Amino acid sequence: MAIAVTPADLVADLTARVRAAIGTSDPVPLHAPEFGPRERAMVTDCIDSGWVSSVGSHVDAFEAAVAEACGTEHAVATVNGTSALQIALIVAGVRPGDEVLVPALSFVATANAVCHAGAVPHFLDSSIETLGLCPLALSAHLARVAERTGNGLVNRNTGRRLAAIVPMHVFGHPVDMAALNAVAEDYGLPVVEDAAEALGSLYHDRPCGSLGQIAALSFNGNKILTTGGGGAVITSNGEWARRARHLVTTAKRPHRWAFDHDEVGYNYRLPNLNAALGVAQMEALPDRLARKRRLAGQYTKAFEGCTGATVFGEPAHCRSNHWLNALVLQDGAEVHRDAILDGLNEAGLMVRPVWNLLNRLPMFVDCPAAPLPVASDLERRIVNVPSSANLARP
Ligand SMILES: *Cc1c(COP(=O)(O)O)cnc(C)c1O
Repeated sequence: MAIAVTPADLVADLTARVRAAIGTSDPVPLHAPEFGPRERAMVTDCIDSGWVSSVGSHVDAFEAAVAEACGTEHAVATVNGTSALQIALIVAGVRPGDEVLVPALSFVATANAVCHAGAVPHFLDSSIETLGLCPLALSAHLARVAERTGNGLVNRNTGRRLAAIVPMHVFGHPVDMAALNAVAEDYGLPVVEDAAEALGSLYHDRPCGSLGQIAALSFNGNKILTTGGGGAVITSNGEWARRARHLVTTAKRPHRWAFDHDEVGYNYRLPNLNAALGVAQMEALPDRLARKRRLAGQYTKAFEGCTGATVFGEPAHCRSNHWLNALVLQDGAEVHRDAILDGLNEAGLMVRPVWNLLNRLPMFVDCPAAPLPVASDLERRIVNVPSSANLARP
C-alpha cells in the first residue's frame, strides 16, 4: 500500500478508507437522526390527545426509561442538555461567583451552562487515553491553585470558590472516572457529569451518567437518540431530583389550582410532544448501540495500516456508545488537517474538526485555565467522520 506523503495522497487515502468503512458512494451527513413507525404513532397519539405541552404521561414514561437505562433512581426531563447541565450544577451547590472545573476540549454548552448558573468556567487539560478530563493534570493543577479556607475550597489566584468538577465523555468515550472521583473526593468537590454524548456508554459495566453525584444528558437532533430538542438531569439523590424538578417547572408548589411559586424558577420542562418521541427512541437504544458498535468496527478495519490517521478506540474497561467516530491525525498529517477537511467534504463525506478549545473563545479568554498541552495537541488532530447508525452493515 502506498504511504500517503503529499496532502493530495493523504486526502485520497483517507477518502478511500472512509468510503470503504461506510460502504456507500452517496453523500453522507455527519450524523442523521433515525425515526420509525413507533415514533410516528407516539407523536400522533400525543397530538390526538391534546396533551402536547409540559404535562403528560409521556414525560413520566420517558423519564422512567432514561433513569432505567442510566442506572439512576431519578431522571428529570428538560428542554435541552444545556438547561439540564445548568440545573445539575445549581442543584449540586454551584452558586453565582463560584468557579467550576471543566475540560477545555468540549462543546461550548459545557462552559455556557456554568455561566448560566452564574459561575466561571475554569479550563483543564485532557487525557490522550480518553480525550476527556485528565485526572493527573487535574490533581497537579489543584495542588498548585486550590486552597482550603473557611469559605471552602478556593482558587488562590482568583479568590473564587471552586464548586464542582464537570467531566465530559467525549464522543461517548467514558473518562477515567475512578481516578477523577478520587481527586474530587480528596478535595470535597461534587462531580457533575456532562454525559450529553454518552447515553448508553459503560465504564466498568456502569452507565455514564451514574458515575458522579448528578449528570446531564442531551437529546438534541445530532445525539445518539433525539427528542427533537431535549435533555435530562439524572441522579440517585432523591432530594436533588426533587429540587431539579421543582426548578425546571417554574418552582411551582404542587397545588390543584393555586399559582404558588417559592423561588425564581425556570421554564425548562420537556414538552409531552418531545417526550413522546423520546419514549419511542429509548426503545430503540439497544439496537442503536449495537449498530454503532458495528460501524466503529468497520472504521477500525478500514483504517488498519493507515499511516496518516488512526481511529480513536474505546478506553480500557469501557464500552463506548460510539456516538461520533473520530480520526486522530498522525505526526505530519495534522498539518494538512484543513486540506483533509476540504477534500473529504468535497467528496460528499461530511467531516468536521473537533471543537476549538473553549478557553480561546472570546467570551472565555479571561477565565482561568490550567496548562493545556494535550488538549492543544488533540485540537489540531481530531476529525469526526460520518457516524449515523444506518451506515452499519447487517
Ligand atoms: C450536545 C451537548 C450539550 C448540550 O446539549 P443541547 O441539548 O444541545 O443543549 C452539552 N454538552 C456536550 C458535551 C454536548 O455535546
